[in-house]
Amino acid sequence: MSHEGIRIQSEEERARDEEAQRPLPRIAITPEKVRVLLTEGKGLEIDWSDGHRSAWSFAWLRNACPCATCNDERSQQGRKPGQPKPRVAELLPMYTAPAKPASAQAVGRYALQFNWLDGHTAGIYSWDFLRRHCQCTECRFERGETAGAPN
Ligand SMILES: [Zn+2]
Ligand SMILES: [Zn+2]
Repeated sequence: MSHEGIRIQSEEERARDEEAQRPLPRIAITPEKVRVLLTEGKGLEIDWSDGHRSAWSFAWLRNACPCATCNDERSQQGRKPGQPKPRVAELLPMYTAPAKPASAQAVGRYALQFNWLDGHTAGIYSWDFLRRHCQCTECRFERGETAGAPN
């Protein structure tokens, strides 16, 4: 007997899924200012036309890479975008440098692409994707991602 395939979704989860499908207003996905804080190694900041300011760390962005390969890998491991890979217990843990891009460039008028120092460049981070995954406390709380919320 297997219970696989049976997915019980709470009202709250369903509401959240519907919310995730809803198209965002244009001003919410139109950046006014894009700052890639390369020298500081901090991450990405965007001021949107609706007045909201979003920030993401490079580590989050690398772990949220939206390319097909990274998407597949995440779904196999049951990870959400931005969630780090599970650490493998090693006798002599290898040092892994924190994720950082060598450079970043705009893709048309709709997205940003990072050239990560590990050589990965396949991810196209659309404004829509970024806004939906805004890492500010307010947005994370609204999505039920902050500590204290049931996981
Ligand atoms: Zn990727
Ligand atoms: Zn936000």
